[in-house]
Amino acid sequence: MEKISTIVLPRKLLEKIVFHAQKALPNESVSIIGGKIEGETAHSKVVFTPENEDRSQVTFSVDPITLLDIYKKIEQQGLKLIAIYHTHPAAPKPSGTDLFYMEVNPYVWLISSTSEPERPQGYLLLKDGTLKKITVKITN
Ligand SMILES: [Zn+2]
Repeated sequence: MEKISTIVLPRKLLEKIVFHAQKALPNESVSIIGGKIEGETAHSKVVFTPENEDRSQVTFSVDPITLLDIYKKIEQQGLKLIAIYHTHPAAPKPSGTDLFYMEVNPYVWLISSTSEPERPQGYLLLKDGTLKKITVKITN
């Protein structure tokens, strides 16, 4: 995971994420992305759109049973959890809370502003504490 520099996100999957994010407004939304890692590139293959259990404009969480079910479905397809997407009412940068959860969930974190859900910024928190910027490549 630490080697990843780019995440590829097909437009169709992004549309599903954006639809979910718009439906959740004004609250934050969360989507979970499964896919494959090849060298430095993470390829998105499936998207899950659980509800934000917090129903909050500043935090998000996923019901643990739902999350477990998503993990299983990703694995059953021979894929891995590669990224977690969520929206922010403010700038699409990790908050202090995000950094804490990034440490225990070492995946690519995609963060969008709620006003621009279609433009996620990618981040990866390395084990040494460095916040690495990940290129998000939207493909057709
Ligand atoms: Zn956040």
